[in-house]
Amino acid sequence: MEFIKPLDLQNATRNDNDREQIEKVRCLIIGSGPAGYTAAIYASRANLNPVLYTGLETGGQLTTTTDVDNYPGYPGGVTGPHMMEDFKKQAERFGTVVRFGIATTVDFSGMTHKVTFDDNKTIEADTVIIATGATAKYLGLPSESKYAGMGVSACATCDGFFYKGKDVAVVGGGDTAAEEATYLAGLCRKVYLIVRRDVLRASKIMQAKVLKFSNIEILWEHQTVDLFGENGVEGATLIKKKGTSDEETVRIKIDGFFLAIGHTPNSSVFKQYVETDQVGYIKTVPGTTKTNVEGVFAAGDVQDPHYRQAVTAAGSGCMAAIDAERYLSETLTMH
Ligand code: FAD
Ligand code: NAP
Repeated sequence: MEFIKPLDLQNATRNDNDREQIEKVRCLIIGSGPAGYTAAIYASRANLNPVLYTGLETGGQLTTTTDVDNYPGYPGGVTGPHMMEDFKKQAERFGTVVRFGIATTVDFSGMTHKVTFDDNKTIEADTVIIATGATAKYLGLPSESKYAGMGVSACATCDGFFYKGKDVAVVGGGDTAAEEATYLAGLCRKVYLIVRRDVLRASKIMQAKVLKFSNIEILWEHQTVDLFGENGVEGATLIKKKGTSDEETVRIKIDGFFLAIGHTPNSSVFKQYVETDQVGYIKTVPGTTKTNVEGVFAAGDVQDPHYRQAVTAAGSGCMAAIDAERYLSETLTMH
């Protein structure tokens, strides 16, 4: 990984016009999910006086869910919104300034890192922690929103437990779908794997794992067109071989409907400067949160195609703050 344009904290210059509009901070955190707030807790305790911008979804993905039962420290479980309010309070307790705003443009080419929020407020930061998360893709059916939190989920590890002994469906044919289906097969009575083509995109090894489970039934060449149920998902309407002369409507009875058709990392605004993989996940130096731009760090789901859990996001947020603090002390020592 090649580093671009080293940061020179001592010699940063700007003109008088800029001085009026630009605010200078030591540590800027973008995103208010578990990664962003944890980075804020550590950065503020390290006297980096962080400013955190929340983005559109204050509190992140967990504010869209009800029960979080797998986050350590809450033995009785906690709702997602409550947990994220606790994170925020803890970050503010140590002095983090939390503001609403969306990063709309960045300039990581110069001596310091510039991030503009809502197209009108520019922050100049010695260090930036990107914690903008990833968004699960949905099929776009009206019934997906209708049953959000009532049988529709994009995270088997998070919600699978609620479907113990029940029948569920997973949509998708990639590695994530294979992984989610095998995870659910260990908990549920039956798992339908709804695949739109007649082949799986998943790697051979994952395909072999799926085929080992007798309670996974693959519905080849099926597409979901609707979900139904009185007080939650009770079934799905599928079309087999859609658009062909053999087209057939199929209804399956299920209690849970899991999307596994990919995620979109929220990295597009940084892509001009920060290296990503093909999907868009920010690349970090293994074992750290360092990106290819010196002084810019990435934490949480935006750099994690594998785990995507609140606790792993929080863990990497902690790492990012420590990496930023060490970067600042090393850079200042050098000058
Ligand atoms: P996110 O929580 O995604 O937060 C990203 C933040 O970045 C948001 O605040 C957003 O507003 C902000 N942002 C995005 N773009 C910009 C921008 N341009 N400018 C400024 N800010 C921006 N995990 C568990 O461990 N247990 C569970 O039970 C669980 N349940 C889940 C249920 C659901 C329905 C979903 C969707 C996910 C669930 N997860 C669960 C996964 C968990 O929510 C994520 O792994 C975790 O939230 C990732 O944290 P993060 O901080 O990386 O990003
Ligand atoms: P992916 O590889 O892009 O697969 C997405 C799957 O969803 C594909 O099968 C696709 O079908 C299907 N799909 C997309 N849109 C759909 C729609 N509208 N309706 C029905 N099906 C739809 O995504 P992923 O599985 O999340 O994997 C992402 C990356 O992470 C991959 O590189 C993968 O290898 C990696 N990963 C690895 C592991 C592992 O090694 N353990 C685990 C998880 C993920 P088509 O095939 O027809 O396009």
